[in-house]
Amino acid sequence: MAALDLDRTAHEHAAALRSSEYTARALAEATLVRVRAQEPSLNAYITVTDELALRQADAADAALKAGGAGPLTGIPVGVKDLLGTKGVRTTAASKMLETFVPPYDCTVVQRLNAAGAVTIGKTNLDEFAMGSSTEHSAFGPTRNPWDLDRVPGGSSGGSAATVAARGVPISLGTDTGGSIRQPAALCGILGLKTTYGRVSRWGVVAFASSLDQVGPFARDAEDAAALLGVIAGHDPLDATSAPLPVPDYTERFARGLDGLRVGVPADFFGEGLEDGVREAMERSINVLAANGAVINRNITLPTAQAGLTVYYIIAPSEASANLARYDGVKYGYSYGDGRNAEEEMSETRGRGFGAEVKRRIMLGTYALSAGYYDAYYLKAQKVRTLIKREFDAALNEVDVILTPTSPNVAFRLAEKLDDPMAMYLNDLYTIPVNIAGNPGISLPCGFSDGLPVGMQLIGRMFEESTLLGAAHGWEQVTDWHRQAPPARG
Ligand code: GLN
Repeated sequence: MAALDLDRTAHEHAAALRSSEYTARALAEATLVRVRAQEPSLNAYITVTDELALRQADAADAALKAGGAGPLTGIPVGVKDLLGTKGVRTTAASKMLETFVPPYDCTVVQRLNAAGAVTIGKTNLDEFAMGSSTEHSAFGPTRNPWDLDRVPGGSSGGSAATVAARGVPISLGTDTGGSIRQPAALCGILGLKTTYGRVSRWGVVAFASSLDQVGPFARDAEDAAALLGVIAGHDPLDATSAPLPVPDYTERFARGLDGLRVGVPADFFGEGLEDGVREAMERSINVLAANGAVINRNITLPTAQAGLTVYYIIAPSEASANLARYDGVKYGYSYGDGRNAEEEMSETRGRGFGAEVKRRIMLGTYALSAGYYDAYYLKAQKVRTLIKREFDAALNEVDVILTPTSPNVAFRLAEKLDDPMAMYLNDLYTIPVNIAGNPGISLPCGFSDGLPVGMQLIGRMFEESTLLGAAHGWEQVTDWHRQAPPARG
C-alpha cells in the first residue's frame, strides 16, 4: 500500500480511494492529525469535528465498497463557520453565536453529505463575514501559511489557509464582496464566487442577502468543478436560487485558452495597485496571449469604480436588517441581567457583537433611516443597475474580464486593523462583481516579495464553466497552482 500523501488534490484522492490504495477512514485520520498539528500556527478552524469526520469516512468507505462513489466520496472538506451544520456549533465567528448549535444542515452541507464528503471542521472567518483579514474573529485571527506574520485575507480566511497549507484539499466559503476570491489570492489558491442564484443560501447565516454567495476553494480547476457540481442547483427553500440545470463544470476543459477573448479594463489597473501585483498581472497577460488567448484592452468599466461606495451603502443596510434578529431572546448570546427589555437588548447586542459588526449596523441603520433612504439606499441601487449594465456590455465583447483580484498581497497582522478604509480597499476589484451578480474566479498567477498574487477572471451570468475552463487552461501552461507554502505542523 502506497504512503498516504496528504498533498494530493481531491481528484487524486478520489482515484486512490476507488482503487483501494487507502480507505476514507485512513485519509480522514491522517487529515485530522495534520490539521490539528497546523492549528497552533494557523488557527484556521473554530471547531474541528473529529467524530463527525470519522463517522462520515466510515459511511464513505461503505459507499466505495458498494460501488456508489462520486467525486467527493470520502474527500475531506473544510466548511466556513457561517454555514449552518446540524449538531455542530455554528458561530459566524461571533460571541453572539458562540454556543449556537443549529437543528438542521444548510442545503449546501446537505448536498455535501449526500455526496459522501467528510467534514473536517468549521473554518475561521471575520465575524459575520465582515472583513478582509479574518482578524475580526471572536476566536482569534487566522494566519497566512506563506508567512505567519501576515493575514490570509478574509472573510473566509480559515477556508483559504487550510487549503493552501494542504490541510484539506477543498473547502467552502462565502463571498459578499470578495470573501472567497481575496483570501484565495492572498493564500495562492483558486477561489470561485458563483453567480448570484447559482448556489442555495438556505441555512447560511445571512450578511447581505442581495450579494451573499457560497462557493468553492480548491487547488485546481478540476477539484473546484467537482465541488461546485455538488453544491450548485435550484433549491425551493431559497427563493433567490435559480431554477436552472447544473452543467458538467468540466465541459470547457478541452478547449484550453485557445481563442479565449480576454478583456483587460484599464479602470482596474489604476491608483492603489501595488507594483508587484501589476507586474505579475502584465506577465500573466503575456502568458495568456502566448497561449492563444485574444487580449482586448478596449473594454471599459468606468462606473465599476463606484462599486465600493455602492457596496458600503447596500451591504450594511442589508446587514442591519439581517442582524436585527440577534436580540438575546430566541437564540444566541443573551446578557441576562438587564433590568428591563431595553437594557437587556442593548447589553446583549453591545456585548455580543464586535466593533466591525457594530460599525456596519450603524452605517446601515443610518442609510435606511427616514429621510435618508432616497439619498443613500435608493441612489446606490440606481448606480448598481449602471454597473450591471457595464459588465453586461463588456461581456458582449469578450468571454472573460481579467483584473487583479486584490490591489495588494497579504499584509501584516494589525496593519490595517485601525484603518477601516484601508481594509475596505482590499476589495476594490472584487466588490463590483458582487454588485453585478456575475461569477468571478481568482487564480494564482505569480509572487511578489515571496507572497502569492491572484488574478481575477469575471464571466457572464451562470457561465462558471467558462471560468473553470480558462482556469484549467491556465494550469496547463503555468505551475503557480503547484507552489506550496512551508509545511506548517
Ligand atoms: N471584505 C468585505 C466586507 O468586509 C467583503 C466581505 C465578504 O465578502 N463577506 O464586507
